[in-house]
This record gives sequence, structure tokens and C-alpha cells, in this order.
Amino acid sequence: MSDPQQKTAAQDNGASEPAQQFAQAVVDARPEDQTVGGQASVPNQQQPDSPPSPPAAGNSVRPVWLVASLRMLRSLLLLELLRGLYLTGRKFFARKITVRYPEEKTPMSPRFRGLHALRRYPNGEERCIACKLCEAVCPAMAIHIDSEVRDDGSRRTTRYDIAMVKCIFCGLCEEACPVDAIVESHVLEYHGEKRGDLYYTKEMLLANGDKHEQAIAAARAAEAKYR
Ligand code: SF4
Ligand code: SF4
Repeated sequence: MSDPQQKTAAQDNGASEPAQQFAQAVVDARPEDQTVGGQASVPNQQQPDSPPSPPAAGNSVRPVWLVASLRMLRSLLLLELLRGLYLTGRKFFARKITVRYPEEKTPMSPRFRGLHALRRYPNGEERCIACKLCEAVCPAMAIHIDSEVRDDGSRRTTRYDIAMVKCIFCGLCEEACPVDAIVESHVLEYHGEKRGDLYYTKEMLLANGDKHEQAIAAARAAEAKYR
């Protein structure tokens, strides 16, 4: 907006016609809120406490338009689809490792620790001498033993139970046994339909030992030099 008083003052100073036009153009172009009482006013804006810091040298943040362009290019070239097809093709021609369990089984280590068994000597006598070392060493307190002294002076167990729901198959019991009476067989296919089914009594453990004695003896013989 032009100011008639300022226009009049410029003309009164005796300035030439082009100079007056220039002065009038400067007055018209000046924002109204910058003149208060003839002095330039400070714009009503909140000044920041500190000037914005310049971007750090070497900052590798990609601009948004570049990221969007790369994403669009990747979608158009179907790169993810091609990667998926490559993975499928590689597995399709690779050697198959699927095993038809239980007809086929994977190799088992001779040190595998499966279901426990109590062993006998070849004459049928129990190996266990009721020393209770296995019961003492068991970290899960899964073994319970009662013992008696027989008429011939030998000591034997009257109760030897293992709670399989407590057992963690650490193998410490068979490591502690001085006569190789308690062992962990290679039997892994057993189950229980209720809690009591996994409470193995002395008779069950002896039966397991009788059934798998041949395999147990072969595994112990193979590992004898490492014990
Ligand atoms: S394998 Fe370990 S947890 Fe299981 S009965 Fe033996 S010592 Fe106890
Ligand atoms: S199984 Fe072995 S360690 Fe356990 S009580 Fe019998 S002899 Fe002792």
C-alpha cells in the first residue's frame, strides 16, 4: 500500500521525477509490519535458542526420493521373486535328508543316553551292590534305593526306582556306579500315558537291562578306552 504522506515528502524534497518514482516504488514494496513509528520492527517470530546445526560431514543418510526409487526399481525387476525361485531350485536338486522314521533311523552315538537299565552278571546275579552312590550323585533326586543284607552277607537292593519325569539324563548315575550296574541304554522309544507310567521300578529296569544287554555290553566295550 502506498503512503500518501511519504509520497508528498519525497516530492517536497525537490527530487527529480525518476528519483521520485524509485522512492515511491521502494515505499510501496516495504511490508507494513516492518515500520513502527518510523523504525524497522522485529518480526513476531519465536527465535530459536541456537541456530540449527549443519549436517555432519560424511553423513550417509539417503534422501527419501532415492530410497523410494530403489524400492520401486526392486519391485519392477522382481528381485525378491527371483531370489525365492533360486532358493527353491537349489533345494530341489540338493541331496535329500528326509528320513522315513521309524522305518529309517539316523545314526546314534555310542554315548547316547536313553532309558535306564539295571544290568546283571552272566550268571544272572544283579550287579548292583546298593552302595547308593548313584542316588547321592543324582542332581534331580530321581533315584530312590532301599537295601538289605542277604543271608550270604551280600548287600542288595530291595527297591530301586527312577522317576523319569524328574530325570534329566545327565548320565551322572552311570558315571558314579563302580560295577556298571545302572546304565543308560540306547532306547529312546518309550512313553507314558499318565504320570505313574514313567516311574520305573527295579523290575522294569532289570527287564530293560535283560532285553538290551547285548547292545549295552557292545556300547560299553566300544567306549571302555575313553572311560
Ligand atoms: S541320568 Fe542324571 S538325573 Fe537321571 S537318574 Fe541318572 S543321575 Fe539322576
Ligand atoms: S546302581 Fe551302582 S551306584 Fe547305584 S547303588 Fe547300585 S552299585 Fe551303587
